[in-house]
Amino acid sequence: MTKDLLKASEVLTSMFRSRNSKPTTAEVETPRDVELSDDEWRRRLSPEQFRVLRQAGTEPAFSGEYVDYHDDGFFCCAACGARLFSSGAKFDSGSGWPSFTEPAIASAVELHRDRSFGMVRTEALCRACGSHLGHVFDDGPRPTGQRYCINSLSLTLESEQQ
Ligand code: FE
Repeated sequence: MTKDLLKASEVLTSMFRSRNSKPTTAEVETPRDVELSDDEWRRRLSPEQFRVLRQAGTEPAFSGEYVDYHDDGFFCCAACGARLFSSGAKFDSGSGWPSFTEPAIASAVELHRDRSFGMVRTEALCRACGSHLGHVFDDGPRPTGQRYCINSLSLTLESEQQ
């Protein structure tokens, strides 16, 4: 194989990997499926939801309605309704926030580097509408080792949406 062909095959391989891999940390703005003004979001959401989803707030630990929720179901974005997490990936982290080992669909959740409050963390956002969900940490259980630490206020159960 010539050098050029080798290079082309490397590019193709990396494109294939990036399409099929887990969510990666992105610094670029992604076009959204749902784009609303702050005023429109305020009309749709409760003040508490607006603060968390649209202003990257955090609900107090152990305050959310899904911390101890153990039934089956899909957790969707409370802002736009996109399916985000399955109850099968939920685990008791003891943190006081609903915790998941992985998103239901990797591309549904977008990860950003978050340097607020003097820390470097990984922020999790709804890819469809850009709303803040929570943060991701590397101290989760096997097999992923990930802990998606998500605000209850950012979630709604699929069965409750209709
Ligand atoms: Fe959303």
